[in-house]
Amino acid sequence: MKISIDVDKCIRCGLCREVCPEDAVHPMLHSIHHRFEVIADECTGCGDCLSYCAAAGALVEYEAA
Ligand code: SF4
Ligand code: SF4
Repeated sequence: MKISIDVDKCIRCGLCREVCPEDAVHPMLHSIHHRFEVIADECTGCGDCLSYCAAAGALVEYEAA
């Protein structure tokens, strides 16, 4: 399992970035809106971020290929 961010639901609080033990959450380089993204290669699927997200559905679990 891995995690991605639904940018339409994310309120950009940055908490997932702060708690991620792998530093897998990064600001989107080319976004002027301070959006965040999870770098798939760095996400271990630990799920630590899930309980911190205040925006329902913003963190999306998916099966890694
Ligand atoms: S599942 Fe774990 S490694 Fe992946 S983004 Fe969340 S806290 Fe980071
Ligand atoms: S914790 Fe949730 S709302 Fe906050 S930046 Fe991460 S995905 Fe967005």
